[in-house]
Amino acid sequence: MADSTICLEMLKILPGRVRISEPMKKHTSWRIGGPADVFVTPANREELRLAVSYAYEREIPLTIIGAGTNILVADEGIRGVVVKVGCGLDRISVDDNMVIAESGAKLSKVAAVVRDAGLGGFEFSAGIPGNIGGALVMNAGANGTAIGTRVKEVLLLNQAGCFFKKTIDEINFGYRSSALQHDSAVVVEAVFSCYHRDKEAIKHEMEVFIKRRKETQPLHYPSAGSIFKNPPGDSAGRLIEAVGLKGERIGDAQISTLHANFIINLGEARARDIMMLVERARNSVLGHFGIELKPEVKVVGYQ
Ligand SMILES: Cc1cc2nc3c(=O)[nH]c(=O)nc-3n(C[C@H](O)[C@H](O)[C@H](O)COP(=O)(O)OP(=O)(O)OC[C@H]3O[C@@H](n4cnc5c(N)ncnc54)[C@H](O)[C@@H]3O)c2cc1C
Repeated sequence: MADSTICLEMLKILPGRVRISEPMKKHTSWRIGGPADVFVTPANREELRLAVSYAYEREIPLTIIGAGTNILVADEGIRGVVVKVGCGLDRISVDDNMVIAESGAKLSKVAAVVRDAGLGGFEFSAGIPGNIGGALVMNAGANGTAIGTRVKEVLLLNQAGCFFKKTIDEINFGYRSSALQHDSAVVVEAVFSCYHRDKEAIKHEMEVFIKRRKETQPLHYPSAGSIFKNPPGDSAGRLIEAVGLKGERIGDAQISTLHANFIINLGEARARDIMMLVERARNSVLGHFGIELKPEVKVVGYQ
């Protein structure tokens, strides 16, 4: 089915929510990525359900994104339908120590609401960008813990348009991994269990985490955070630095001089520049240390 036909049909179902040939660089923290054939921003659950089942019923490839802070989108863009889960699907509520957040809510907003309610449990996330859906899929974490440790259950939407729940046992959270990465379902909402804690203590701990990030990460440049997962007992940044690749540059993509596990966009970097640097770092570390680095960032759009 031609993009324009998909777009026209979807516009009828979701007026004002559909764009054709949308540059993905506008929706990724790396500011990289070619056009999405059809780009949809549902404003509520029903619109999300309609977009997902429309693509599924017509066998059109479907890509779900959140804030785009952990994805590398191909220079050629993404074929089919891209659904961005964000504004409109971002409600947050607190009931005693339980927190319910929709997947389009910013992780930082959830952490602030939780802190202001005098609840501990999200301190670790201070400074991690992105939305709740992406955080759950990636099991985003820092400072020795990750979001999966707080999850009670997750509400999902399957491609046939049915909502269903999964408990923490079914999600199998691991280091930057979860069963959600191998599931075609969309994360819609999650219930988190927190604990009562002094607000000032929470605030102080989060400020310390943010200060440390500012000192150690190249936050003034577009990036997607850490490129590789840390191998057991070591750090990917240390290994990449040890093979002499700090500051290595291809086009406008550069291995950060501040933190070697970050690749920054100095201006007009392309996805292929990033991919080449990733390969160079991976091969060098494998050659020197016999350690195979595994990417943390998800590549989207390459065939
Ligand atoms: C400066 C910087 C610092 C960072 N620091 C950290 C850190 O300390 N720790 C850490 O873990 N990460 C870190 N990250 C990476 C990133 O912020 C997290 O992985 C974040 O949780 C991704 O959320 P997102 O909404 O941007 O997801 P996206 O990048 O949009 O998507 C990530 C993956 O989740 C899928 N996805 C997203 N939303 C949904 C949904 N609703 N349903 C189903 N699938 C979905 C996408 O298909 C994709 O596979 C950092 C990134 C940057 C730029």
